[in-house]
Amino acid sequence: MELQIYIDGKWFPKSEAKISVFDHGLLYGDGVFEGIRAYHGLVFKLSEHLDRLWESAHTLMLEIPISKKEMEKAIIETLRKNHFNDAYIRVVVTRGTGDLGLDPAKCKRATIFIITDKITLYPESLYKKGLDLITVPTVRNLPEAVNPAIKSLNYLNNILAKIEGKNSGCIEALMLNHQGYVAECTGDNIFMVKNALLLTPPTYLGALKGVTRQAIIEIAESKKIKFEERILTRHDLFNAEEVFLTGTAAEVIPVVKIDGRVIGTGKPGGVTADLRKAFQALTQKDGVRYSSS
Ligand code: PMP
Repeated sequence: MELQIYIDGKWFPKSEAKISVFDHGLLYGDGVFEGIRAYHGLVFKLSEHLDRLWESAHTLMLEIPISKKEMEKAIIETLRKNHFNDAYIRVVVTRGTGDLGLDPAKCKRATIFIITDKITLYPESLYKKGLDLITVPTVRNLPEAVNPAIKSLNYLNNILAKIEGKNSGCIEALMLNHQGYVAECTGDNIFMVKNALLLTPPTYLGALKGVTRQAIIEIAESKKIKFEERILTRHDLFNAEEVFLTGTAAEVIPVVKIDGRVIGTGKPGGVTADLRKAFQALTQKDGVRYSSS
């Protein structure tokens, strides 16, 4: 059976799931999105993702034409229609169909679509071996411009960084903010461990408030691992004992090299492994249930 895609209250087979070329999501990147995971018939951190989606839309003055409860129902129905127990869920809300001008007021109603599918961001071998990162010249957008806290459809900042990372042979890239402080990676938040202390940069420096980031902070607190948000430089990361990334698609993935500097022993560390295990355990038991198997 073909993948069933939700668009504005109806489901379409993948080959017929289409939106207008006049949609401002496409013409201008005017819209917001979320990436969510379902594990074992449970949607993980659904309300956190929907809250972030609504906040991103609010800042853009984009009115989502359905309620959070209706969005939840639409997501669950899409998962059920596709018989997915485990899936990656992409929820997109665009400004809607307008004309060729920028003016969002010309778009009468936001377009909503939901895709459920499988995703493998990194091969399993990289979780064992660890990632090699490079810092790229493209810095994170200024908070005073398109604030990186908004999960908007305008991802060119990250895409440029991703291209630069790949040009240098790295699958993920480290992005600094305009002041040279560590912000995050192109699709993941970053953490480091040193002297039994877990650190991550504050998001106001130019990072998305990652749902996985928050889950890791809560796990660390429950395990009595000391945690702080701290302004970090590349020097701090180079001299960390462990570095790892977090994200909905990536979960928790170790980093073993940054800009040619070996991190710690050069092998994935113990704290990272513990946190990864605890995170995976959480995904198996925590969430909104939509299927019994
Ligand atoms: N930073 C960026 C730029 C992202 O796009 C993402 C999501 N892929 C993350 C961090 C991680 O956020 P989350 O844990 O909510 O997926």
